[in-house]
Amino acid sequence: MKHRFASDCHNHSHCSPDGSDSIAAMLSRARELGLYAYTLTDHCECQKFEERYRARVEDAWAQMSDVQPPEGLRFYRGIELGQPNQDTASAAKALQGRAYDFVIGSIHNIRDFEDFFFLDYSGAPDGYIDSLLTAYWQELLEMIAWGDFDTLGHLTYPLRYIQGDHGIPVDLSKHQDAIDSVFTALIKAGKALEVNTSGLRQKIGRTLPDLPLLKRYHELGGKLVTLGSDAHSIADLAKGIDEGMDVLREAGFTEFAVYAQRRPEMLPLE
Ligand SMILES: [Zn+2]
Ligand SMILES: [Zn+2]
Repeated sequence: MKHRFASDCHNHSHCSPDGSDSIAAMLSRARELGLYAYTLTDHCECQKFEERYRARVEDAWAQMSDVQPPEGLRFYRGIELGQPNQDTASAAKALQGRAYDFVIGSIHNIRDFEDFFFLDYSGAPDGYIDSLLTAYWQELLEMIAWGDFDTLGHLTYPLRYIQGDHGIPVDLSKHQDAIDSVFTALIKAGKALEVNTSGLRQKIGRTLPDLPLLKRYHELGGKLVTLGSDAHSIADLAKGIDEGMDVLREAGFTEFAVYAQRRPEMLPLE
């Protein structure tokens, strides 16, 4: 890694339905790359907790607790909660009794819709995409009001598919007020904003959120940022983290956070 404090705090092992490698394999790759800190954050889609995720969450926790991290790697145990605002009782159950270091709050789908990954955007009527985005910002605000998470995961996730995979242009300027209210609420609640570097290796070709939005968050007083590659395999582990750190510096930040026991430790972007 180019940066001394390069850390990857958003990763999935085979404990996630879409992850492919064991926890031990992920940890050994993190050590091999020389990461300063490493956090595993397997999925829990809260609205599917009882039917699909309860056992996975228990299993991931047991495996993370049993594993012996390689010498010299700071390893933290996390979770990515999807849609906690849609099922707060399940979100509470996912966290209960497990002393996570780090909780990512994400919105992968808005209420009564599939994951943005699965939606059909072809031939969408005028205003359809804007209405999806409006609902997305609204649910992010609900999640922030709920509050039991540490960083907001991959803000602008829908654009990964709408703009990136489907090539549909989106004018975010129409949404600037809504985005500003998400940033303001996040800052007020003392939560962090994640820079998710998965976009750099996908069609969208930029971090989620990207440089202009990170500049805006900084301008509004945002100080807490975290970094994650969102790798689902050892092949993608830490991909884009160095570039993400450069983007943060360009946006005006001098430090970023790694969470242990749900508290931020500030590290220089060096
Ligand atoms: Zn996610
Ligand atoms: Zn993820």
